[in-house]
Amino acid sequence: MFATPFLDLPPLTAACGTVQLPGSKSISNRVLLLAALSQGTTEVHDLLASDDTRVMLDALRQLGCGVDERGNGLVHITGLGGAKPRSPAKLFMGNAGTAIRPLTAALALLGGEYELSGVPRMHERPIGDLVEALRQLGCQIEYLGNDGYPPLRIQHGAGLPALRLQEPIRVRGDVSSQFLTALLMALPLVAQKQDLAIEVVGELISKPYIHITLELLARFGIAVRHENWQRFTIPAGSRYQSPGSIHVEADASSASYFIALGAIAAGAGGQNGIKILGVGLDSIQGDIRFVEAARAMGARVEGGPNWLQIERGSWPLKAIELDCNHIPDAAMTLAVMALYAEGTTTLTNIASWRVKETDRLAAMAIELRKLGAGVEEGADYLRVTPPASTADWRPASIHTYDDHRVAMCFSLAAFNPAGLPERIEDPKCVAKTFPDYFETLFAVARADAAAIPVICIDGPTASGKGTVAAAVAQQLGYHFLDSGALYRITALAAVQAGLTISAENEASIAKLARQLPVQFEGGRVWLAQAEVTDAIRTEEAGMNASRVSALPLVRKALIALQHGFRRLPGLVADGRDMGTVIFPSAPLKVFLTASAECRAQRRYKQLISKGISARISDLRADLEARDARDQSRVVAPLVPAQDALQLDSSALTASEAAAQVLGWWQAHRPFS
Ligand code: C5P
Repeated sequence: MFATPFLDLPPLTAACGTVQLPGSKSISNRVLLLAALSQGTTEVHDLLASDDTRVMLDALRQLGCGVDERGNGLVHITGLGGAKPRSPAKLFMGNAGTAIRPLTAALALLGGEYELSGVPRMHERPIGDLVEALRQLGCQIEYLGNDGYPPLRIQHGAGLPALRLQEPIRVRGDVSSQFLTALLMALPLVAQKQDLAIEVVGELISKPYIHITLELLARFGIAVRHENWQRFTIPAGSRYQSPGSIHVEADASSASYFIALGAIAAGAGGQNGIKILGVGLDSIQGDIRFVEAARAMGARVEGGPNWLQIERGSWPLKAIELDCNHIPDAAMTLAVMALYAEGTTTLTNIASWRVKETDRLAAMAIELRKLGAGVEEGADYLRVTPPASTADWRPASIHTYDDHRVAMCFSLAAFNPAGLPERIEDPKCVAKTFPDYFETLFAVARADAAAIPVICIDGPTASGKGTVAAAVAQQLGYHFLDSGALYRITALAAVQAGLTISAENEASIAKLARQLPVQFEGGRVWLAQAEVTDAIRTEEAGMNASRVSALPLVRKALIALQHGFRRLPGLVADGRDMGTVIFPSAPLKVFLTASAECRAQRRYKQLISKGISARISDLRADLEARDARDQSRVVAPLVPAQDALQLDSSALTASEAAAQVLGWWQAHRPFS
């Protein structure tokens, strides 16, 4: 996950490959609650790991359900099976509408004392129509903040609420279908003696989500009948029964980004299209109908029971006019696809966007305009006209409003024909439904290598360049190349192979270097199967590295490996010839220095902290001798690139130096 303040996407050109998508949020949270209300233990497979499911799992645990997380998406839930939930309880629901609404309904019917609250945005998301319906039944619920919105208190004392179940329960269907879903999942708890009826007032929006609810209720033993989506009947004698084991489908809304990707991006390396695993054309999720909309815009989509294959069809895409009531979430992706269409695309019947994670209608309009599109924002529609010509596209910093879908759908604007980079602010907001969204995108998307930014940080030994480079990489979410480590590993591999590091063995060592089976992961280093993180950091390893790095053939052999680190979304490269030889066209080069005195002090502290005794004066003399050698050596002398910015870090901490580099980088970027 990218937990950086922003993520810069270089211009993307192509995409191909296979993606496995995370489980559906809607299905995950419904399954968790249904399992929690059932008799017996349910093995839930492929559960989505996200903020919203975390909130639900934590709440269920608090309420006394058995929650056993086995890892890899497998969770065993042991349901209450008719027992009362643990009460009183204060439940924090984050910004998860799929958790707070059904839990409110279930807890109100089960009795006890509960407080349900969330993040500030949750307290702006309506729940009044559900509370009204529950009050009609006789449930006691009060608002702790504003009327009609969380936080809420459910208060029934010890006994069960006396419920009025004879009359049909009336609930509005035109604000959020989650109110009806909540009732459908809660009422079976009290439908022992008589059929219970729910009547929808007003037109029911988002019917596909109700379809998911009914499908899942059936899997848990509840057969709900409905008449034209207006009247729903829960039969007398309903009782939740665990299906034993259940698989969560991949999220069809998440699939929309990759369906769009396949429609927008050209193939790469002779390979065409995107294959999606985990969800197919037979999905129970309404957003699977995004496929029809994508086809209407020109995408070529095929699919089977658990897969989809998408390729570019018409290009540019075709503008459409579409009533999106049946795919409210995925329709946001259409608004971004509209940037690549010929003509104006109109998305209608999307008023529900205004009460989601943010006011999505306003958000989409503002952000699309930033990219140069013409946008008309109606009360319940959006009209998008792409930038008139390539020159009319703008490099935009996309504000994401703590809304995962804004972040994900706008990432597709990185395919703009103008070849402009794009900034996604607060990229970690995707964690709501798809924590690894950007990693998944980068695994299949392609960019011209020259367009992938590289920041080079060179400098003399002990200048702190490694620490600064790692900090800069971390704050930008970029890869990090510690080129010194490659020389250290090469030297180690040579020693292990019984080769003395000398000119006679140059060709053999270069051969080793060319096929170096090296792997970096979270600050740890492997050579073949063996971890060598510590082994390459000894003084001796450093000396060997220095000798090996003076062999021209070895330097040459390592070039391709180093170029391979230039991957999406960007790279920070640390080492003496990064800016001069390896990445001469890097857009930012920094030459980090510090006085010999200061570097000697730093090295001294380092050694002392490792329990190695040393004298500052000796260290300083060593460093000065090494500087002289490094600057005068024939092979890869230590010289700043001509266009490098010099940064003297003598009086700076590592984080101050990193902040200066980041400041220079920001000044380089086209985002105001
Ligand atoms: O930075 P580090 O101490 O890990 O580097 C190990 C050795 O490799 C040093 O002697 C350094 O001069 C050399 N080196 C190099 N070219 C690089 C990186 C390191 O010659 N790009």
